Amino acid sequence: MAVTLDTPVTALAGVGEQRARKLAKLGLERAADLLEHYPRDYEDRRQEYPIRQAPLGPRVCVRAMAAEHPRRARIRAGLELVQVKVVDQTGALHLTFFNQGYVERAIRAGEEYVFFGAVEEQGRRAEADRACPFPPRPRADFDALLPFAPTGAQSRVMDQIAADLASGKPMNRLVQGDVGSGKTAVAAYACWLCAGAGYQSALMAPTEVLAEQHYRSLSALLSPAGVRVGLLTGSLPAAEKKRMRQALAAGEIDLAVGTHALISQGVAFRRLALIVADEQHRFGVAQRSALAGKSGTGGMPPPHVLVMSATPIPRTLALILYGDLDLSVIDELPPGRTPVATYVVGEDKRRRVYNFVRRQVEQGRQVYLICPAVEEASAEWGGPPAMDLKAVTTYAKQLQTEVFPDLRVDLLHGRMKPREKEAAMAAFAAGRTQVLVATTVVEVGVDVPNSSLVVIENADRFGLSQLHQLRGRVGRGRHQSYCVLLTASRSPEALARLRTLASTTDGFRIAEEDLKARGPGDFFGSRQHGLPQMKLADLSGDLALLQEAQGAAQALLAEDPDLSRPEDRPVLDQVRRMFSDTPDIFN
Ligand code: ADP
Ligand code: MG
Repeated sequence: MAVTLDTPVTALAGVGEQRARKLAKLGLERAADLLEHYPRDYEDRRQEYPIRQAPLGPRVCVRAMAAEHPRRARIRAGLELVQVKVVDQTGALHLTFFNQGYVERAIRAGEEYVFFGAVEEQGRRAEADRACPFPPRPRADFDALLPFAPTGAQSRVMDQIAADLASGKPMNRLVQGDVGSGKTAVAAYACWLCAGAGYQSALMAPTEVLAEQHYRSLSALLSPAGVRVGLLTGSLPAAEKKRMRQALAAGEIDLAVGTHALISQGVAFRRLALIVADEQHRFGVAQRSALAGKSGTGGMPPPHVLVMSATPIPRTLALILYGDLDLSVIDELPPGRTPVATYVVGEDKRRRVYNFVRRQVEQGRQVYLICPAVEEASAEWGGPPAMDLKAVTTYAKQLQTEVFPDLRVDLLHGRMKPREKEAAMAAFAAGRTQVLVATTVVEVGVDVPNSSLVVIENADRFGLSQLHQLRGRVGRGRHQSYCVLLTASRSPEALARLRTLASTTDGFRIAEEDLKARGPGDFFGSRQHGLPQMKLADLSGDLALLQEAQGAAQALLAEDPDLSRPEDRPVLDQVRRMFSDTPDIFN
């Protein structure tokens, strides 16, 4: 039979009733319709592109080597991703396969494959990839942003961080620097590098007061360099929080400053590459691993982690808690600091202390008056608290009306509304408040260089390291500064402990004393850090033994990372037993 243009498709060989119905759906009824039915699309797999030259958009072939073992993640029911980074001579790509679980087994690190798919650019990341990891930037460009010249120690640590970030391996670094040694500038440098490479960073502080302070100073420092800084804390108004979350997910914020809220559920980053945890001794081990597990969309590798601590952690404890971290020490204070003169003073001298407060204010300085308060009973400090918040509030009122009616007295405690807290801190920072009655919310990091005196009520109720922190709120500027430890205690041990503080400003020595006096469990205050009870070993003395144990543990883990070999099972069981009541470390 001759087929003409008008031949109905039903007359063609192989077209029965069913197929004819399907063709009809596409509007194909005559032979001519078939001729004019063109392919919607075609795939040209003949040309292979080097990664750097691969056009963005259309699906193309790329020949590349798997740089890692593929990672598989179930996002939700019905959506599973396999992600893998591949490289060639010209750059790197992060591949994502949707619902193709077999890919995890099909691709082996180190082998070359031809991939076919669309290459997309994620923010500035793809560019950076072509140039995934931190292009070097001249340090001088950052130093120019600072209002001061970095100290030798700051410079050294900044260079260590830059080397980490350029290495292509995830950074895991602990920066220890005594109070006032200038850790903020070092953190800012890391975030600046990160933003320069087109990535996001997150800086977490233990309190909202501190997060807000960091937000203020980091925006002032880095905005002129084009870094977009945002604040996210638990108590922001819901709408504000939502806006921030969206901005983070969209990659519209380069540096997110916040509290623990930053790692709470629902906060997703577009391309998070760096996490800075300030005053880390307040973060538990579990939070730290939660941080490390936090990364952005599109197959970002695990973020770099920079941990900063002002509590000089004794070497032995650092080995146990942070044995997996590289250590940097900022062992130099900015020039012009004089040690804070420290006095242990009995209750009978209270009047004289008040007069001293007044004299400091008359000289234009500002004063902190610290009271321990029950609601904030941070784990750090043992013993029954001396005052509840109501009493602190009453005390502040009384100081204002009866003792310093002519001075501007204000109050700051952790239970105040965020706006009130911020206002109180801002008023103090601006010099409008002369005497700030505060609880331990000012313990860590708060920086007001014009303050020259800190009076600590019931000083015997605090741990030495915590007192050292509180003392570190002063002595940050040019002025001779003082710390007065008020105590009603007559216990010889308590007084001897306080005198340690009066005799040295060496945070490491203080930490060692504290560890000796209170034992490791209390040093950080609780078992949240997963410290086992030691029967024979002495954390304050057995450094060599601990180092040996750590070496042995690392060697074992290198051979058998999850202790699955039969001969290693007993070790695993024993470790589980030792840490059974501190589950967070293994969760
Ligand atoms: P830390 O967090 O280590 O306790 P900060 O980062 O808050 O210390 O710095 C303490 C104070 O010292 C701040 O006022 C800061 O501006 C100032 N500072 C930091 N580095 C220097 C420096 N190199 N020279 C002069 N002042 C500095
Ligand atoms: Mg700090």
